[in-house]
Amino acid sequence: MLFFTDTHCHINSDQLRGDAAGIVRRAADAGVGRILVVGSDASDSAEAVRLAHAWEREGVFAAVGVHPHDSKTVADGLPDELLRLAYDPRVVAIGETGLDYHYDHSPRDVQKKSLRMHAEWARRAGKPLVLHVREAMEDALEALNELPFDARDLKLLFHCYAGGLDALDAMRDLDAYLSLGGPVTWSGNDELRKVAARVPEDRLLCETDAPWLTPKPHRGKLNEPAFVRHVYETIAEVRGVSTEALARSTDANATRLFGWGSLYE
Ligand SMILES: [Zn+2]
Ligand SMILES: [Zn+2]
Repeated sequence: MLFFTDTHCHINSDQLRGDAAGIVRRAADAGVGRILVVGSDASDSAEAVRLAHAWEREGVFAAVGVHPHDSKTVADGLPDELLRLAYDPRVVAIGETGLDYHYDHSPRDVQKKSLRMHAEWARRAGKPLVLHVREAMEDALEALNELPFDARDLKLLFHCYAGGLDALDAMRDLDAYLSLGGPVTWSGNDELRKVAARVPEDRLLCETDAPWLTPKPHRGKLNEPAFVRHVYETIAEVRGVSTEALARSTDANATRLFGWGSLYE
């Protein structure tokens, strides 16, 4: 039996929110039994929590936080109504936060400040931290190493990992989890498939980042959690394991990280 987990998606986004019921049903039909809906700002974090309660039986959970694109909106601090969400029983992580130097939608020093605030919040709440790092790995590692506490006191997840093979050692030093998405299926992305082959078995996760980064063979459509199977199939192939073996090992990893029940027990 095959059960899949999508450790990162945005069915709370403007693009997907209106079809949330259909998306959750299609995911269940495709064997996706755990879906982590991730917040990008205070309002869609609240929406993520609402969806996690509405679709509890379907295995929907929430992460709450402010995306690095929007960190300028929290330059003076994270709002109380957002901070409170961390204590909701359906919230299993803080994020996504991090650094995005590709778009630079917020000033870099403000992105770093927001990352620090999220890290401290995750530590207080005792929940893992979901990191989005794009073209900023060196600064992200520096920011984590400069926290007023040991970054390894946090459980870290680098989502949609694009750090290359050379950053894998730093990931190991941080005990960090890495999650890979649709780009691993794309033609011409051999570098990322090399990464997929090398991530330690007990630190690997799979995601969609829906509605973006749609995997083959659905490119051109909006992404959704039901498509996560293609991410699993590609990664299983490059690692030389069966899709079921990968589904089981990543289920164990996600269960260890997020504290939700295993799909295989
Ligand atoms: Zn992201
Ligand atoms: Zn995301």
